[in-house]
Amino acid sequence: NINTWLQYNITRYGNGERLLLVRDVTRLHNLEQMRKDFVANVSHELRTPLTVVVGYLETMIDSDDGSNPRWMRPLHQMQQQARRMQSLLNDLLMLSRLETSEARAEEKPVDIALMLPGIRKDALAVSGERQHSISIDCATQARIMGWESELRSAISNLVYNAVKYTQDGGEIQITWVQDDRGARLSVTDNGPGIAAEHLHRLTERFYRVDSSRNSTTGGTGLGLAIVKHVLMRHHGELQISSTPGKGSSFTCVFPAERLI
Ligand code: ADP
Repeated sequence: NINTWLQYNITRYGNGERLLLVRDVTRLHNLEQMRKDFVANVSHELRTPLTVVVGYLETMIDSDDGSNPRWMRPLHQMQQQARRMQSLLNDLLMLSRLETSEARAEEKPVDIALMLPGIRKDALAVSGERQHSISIDCATQARIMGWESELRSAISNLVYNAVKYTQDGGEIQITWVQDDRGARLSVTDNGPGIAAEHLHRLTERFYRVDSSRNSTTGGTGLGLAIVKHVLMRHHGELQISSTPGKGSSFTCVFPAERLI
């Protein structure tokens, strides 16, 4: 029966005997599928009404002629929160797409060296008056097989996080190193760092180190979950190291077979 999902586990004993355990996980798998479908459908359905709300808010703010001053503050707040909801929905949809195993576009050669300057430019624009510096250290040859838009989102998420959490004027370095074992792309900052007990949970959906402090930074808690899924799809992984008070480093590790 193709609709049955089985999980195998083999235990070897010292005397040469083996124990094969087979578990029927069909129910669990179906529930998980329902959860994914539900999140994808709800996010999709909420997008259109939210676009209408954001559109009207924008029109109301733009056509302000000064006659209703007491409405401007709430209108701006509504606009800010509605935009936040939009980015949450976009992140949820992106995660759903990454999780579905259905057929998708073919992988292609992606030139990371070409991609980085654009990401740097956008991140500097986000930083604006906060004046972060962002350096790129990437050899001429930095190409891997993969999906360009996914890789762009993953790397952008890491660089935007560095800007978001690092104090004004902070330094951010993007480095690419490769050898015959594979490639490593690191985004390193000299920001506040993250305490060791949080590191293993950072890629969980909605996990944020200090949600009260972060509520002003406007994140969704989904960024690193997206990065992790993108890297998993490329048979790579995300490594995180951090020293509180000194800074953090997020490294995308790609296996040698991805290099071209
Ligand atoms: P968020 O939308 O909150 O940024 P992420 O999944 O991208 O969600 O990150 C999860 C949490 O990891 C953040 O809320 C933040 O506490 C922490 N974090 C991520 N990047 C950094 C960084 N460069 N420096 C310090 N903390 C970070």
